[in-house]
Amino acid sequence: MRGGSRTLIDLTGQTFGRLYVVDRYDTPEMKSRPLWRCFCDCGRVAIVEGQNLRAGMTRSCGCLRTDVLRENAKRRKEKNRERNNNLADDKRGPVLP
Ligand SMILES: [Zn+2]
Repeated sequence: MRGGSRTLIDLTGQTFGRLYVVDRYDTPEMKSRPLWRCFCDCGRVAIVEGQNLRAGMTRSCGCLRTDVLRENAKRRKEKNRERNNNLADDKRGPVLP
């Protein structure tokens, strides 16, 4: 380890979810937390706070989140269709208050 911040943990070469840490990303002003440049499985580059990587909060450039949302939306749609089918079977016509 070189000099500098005592709290800096070298994450180079580690993988977090879909992210592979390439190197440290130096910001012009060093007031922010340590940032790391990562390659995502999808081919994009992501700049991520080391803290978020280690906490498991960031595991992709954003594509993983998109995938999860899409997956959830699909699942919800299927569930709704199931429920609608059940309603159609159980009751005839709209339910009045
Ligand atoms: Zn990605």
